[in-house]
Parts: sequence; C-alpha cells; structure tokens
Amino acid sequence: MARTKKQSFQTPKGTFDILPSEQKYWEKVREVFKNVSMHYGFGRIDTPIFEDADLYEATVGETTDIIERQMYVFKSKGKDTLALRPEGTASIARSYVENGMINLSQPVKLSYIGPMFRYEQPQSGRYRQFHQVGFEILGDQDPVYDAQIINVFLKFCAQLGLKNLNVEVNSIGCKQCRASYRTQLLRYYKPRLRGVCADCKKRAKLNPLRLLDCKEEKCQPIKANAPSLVDNLCKECHDHFKLVLEFLDELAVPYSLNPHMVRGLDYYTKTVFEVFLEDEHLEGGSEKTHKKSKLAIGGGGRFDDLIKMVGGKSTPAVGAALGMERVIGVMKKQGIKVSDHSKPQVFLVQVGDLGKKKCVKLFDELSDAGLHVLESFGRNSLSSQLRIADKFGAKMALIIGQKEAIDGDVIMRDMESGAQENIPIEKIVKTIKERIKK
Ligand code: AMP
Repeated sequence: MARTKKQSFQTPKGTFDILPSEQKYWEKVREVFKNVSMHYGFGRIDTPIFEDADLYEATVGETTDIIERQMYVFKSKGKDTLALRPEGTASIARSYVENGMINLSQPVKLSYIGPMFRYEQPQSGRYRQFHQVGFEILGDQDPVYDAQIINVFLKFCAQLGLKNLNVEVNSIGCKQCRASYRTQLLRYYKPRLRGVCADCKKRAKLNPLRLLDCKEEKCQPIKANAPSLVDNLCKECHDHFKLVLEFLDELAVPYSLNPHMVRGLDYYTKTVFEVFLEDEHLEGGSEKTHKKSKLAIGGGGRFDDLIKMVGGKSTPAVGAALGMERVIGVMKKQGIKVSDHSKPQVFLVQVGDLGKKKCVKLFDELSDAGLHVLESFGRNSLSSQLRIADKFGAKMALIIGQKEAIDGDVIMRDMESGAQENIPIEKIVKTIKERIKK
C-alpha cells in the first residue's frame, strides 16, 4: 500500500530496545549464566522461539492464563498453527524426546537463555517480550536435584550480587494426592463461593487448584483458611518433600514454606518454589508507614509428567526459570556496580594528514593485539578528540601529530593523571599492553 503521510514508528506495546548504555547489565547476566552453567554441569540448549502451538496447549494447561489469553498464536503460510514460546520448559521436554536424550547418561542437565512472549497488560517488570534464564535437570526423581536446582538459582542471584531474596517452597503432590485434595478443597469453597471473585468462581469449575493462586484482596481470608495440599500428600510425595527440605537445610539455603503456592502451570508435580525480592518501602500520605512488598524474580518446580505429555517415556525432571528484566531491575535498585566492557582501553588521537595515516594503521595493530580501541578520525582538533576520549572513559590516549609521525613516535597519555611520555611507534603495542595490565 502506498504511504501518503510521513509515519513514525515505535516499539510494539510491551517491548523495548536494549540500548548500548544498558548492555553492560545484560552482559553481566549472560556472563553469570555461563559461569553457573559450567560450574554445575549444565549444557546450553537453544530451541526455536516458536513451536507447534499444540505443544503448549498439551502441557501448560488449557485453563491457565498463558493458554487462555497470553499466547501469540499464528498460522504460517504452510497453514501450521504456531506459537511464540511463552516459556522454555515445554520446548526442552520436546527436545529431550525428539533428540533421544533418554539414551544419554541421566540426569541430563540443560540451561537456556532467551526471549519469551506473553500477551499481558504491560506494567513495570511485566512485558510482552521478556527474557528468561532457565536450568533443567531431566531424568532423575531424586529430591537432591530439587534442592540443587534451588541452590543453583540462588548461586546465580548471589553471583550477580542480589540481596534480600527469599525462597518459598511447597509441594503440590502427584496426580493421586491432588485428586483427593481437589475434592476437599471444593467441599471447603462450595459454601463460600458467594464471597469470592469472578475468576475464582470460574476456577472452582475449571481448575480448583488455581483457587490458591488468586491475588484478589477479597479472596485472601478465604484462601488463608483453605485446607493445605502439603497436609494431604500421599506417602511418596510427603517423603520426597521432606527430603527436599532436608537437603535445603544441608545446603544452608534459607526458605519458607508457603502451603498455598501452586504456580500457574499444569505440568508441575511435587516440589514448587518461587524466589522473591523482599522490599520495604514507604507508603501513605502524611502518616507514612513501612510496607513490605514482594517481587517475583523467578520460580520453578518438578515436572515428572511433562516428558510423557510430549510423547516420551515417563521421565522425572525438575527445573527453574528467572526473569532477566526483573533481575536487572533489582541490580539497578540495589546499586550493584557492573563493569562496562564497552569502555575503550585506548583512544587514538591524530592531528594532520600524516598523523591520521599512522593512526589508521596503528588502530588495526592495537585491535589485532586484542585491545579495545576507539577513535574519532573525523575530527582534527586535539582538544576535541581528548574531550571525546574522556567522555568515553578511555584509560589511555595515543596521540600522533605531524612531528610524531615524522619522528616515528607516539605520545602516550594517561587519561586520569594527564601524564605523557613519548614512545617509539614500533614499541607502542607492547608498552600499552603492559600499562593497561597495571
Ligand atoms: P513464570 O514462568 O511465570 O513463573 O515466570 C518466571 C519469571 O519470569 C518470573 O518470576 C518473572 O521474573 C519473569 N516473568 C514472567 N512473566 C514476565 C513478563 N511478562 N515480563 C517480565 N518478566 C516476566
């Protein structure tokens, strides 16, 4: 269609650009992700950002928010119904089966990092395209791995320098214990349904366990007195959970029990957990009070039925995912310093045609030697180039003017102290490397 008017464009609602000035935080999270994955034996996996939409419908659960209203579903030209991935675990399970990972030594430990997509009402810390880091352990039901996943999650946060985190854990049992619990829960809610929100009325019909997920103020007192799942676990689930808590104690992981946590997705079994940032802030008008708030950084749990749901043999597994935007938000709020690798180590300053020619060649030599170099070849004034070097936070400046070019010298300037010395051009790469190391 021909455009008649000049148009301006913006990022789609709920998405954002990650600009160069922000990249240092993203780099830091990726670096810690790499470290933790390597030290705990997780192999990185990248799956497509879109999958067959049925994969999510079959696993995440038809009555969950994700499936009911948050998925970006589209038909491809070949008429396949695809969905942008709303979460990472279903793809991992699909890949485990598709690639025959059952034949590898178990458990298989995988980690991923990348964008997810959910059609949500955007607000602070909630986007339509966001990024998650995830860790999954597939092929072992031992409770030690539930504790290890929680531990890895906390190590990840600790390496980023995050403080004031709290882990809440619960067990939602298996199919067997959940069936009898569901009956008990409905028996409790039935005479109280008048007092609950419209969503809870729907939940009671479609997915009663999610009554415990409700955040509506008016449902809270009813929810607080509801029977708890953890008191109704079968022997196997009870013993499993007891051991998870014992391993957490052994690892000195601080946690609190939250008998009402169910997490949103249908594929969870047994252990579920969430990690929150506990925040205290002032609220109110003239009479300000300290209010505590909780921000979910991430969460996870065991999903012993998922691999069977996607066509594999029954295979136990446990995993967790955390939100990168939220983690970065907390890093900034807590004033965590992140080194900026985009800062140049050396800035080249040239004056005159001959100086510029020497600098063009020197630029290549310095960057071939692994140094991070910046220049401003379009400028000729010494002072304006030094100002730019300063603005970019360069450690050293190398200056070549007409005289230096003829003499075969370079002026090496320490940008912090302003001290300068002349170095023969053939020795400059070696000299500058030694200085920067100091
Ligand atoms: P979930 O898979 O819903 O448990 O999400 C795990 C973590 O991903 C959450 O604790 C958040 O940190 C992050 N997250 C989930 N949804 C969003 C979103 N729409 N925008 C930003 N972060 C999100």
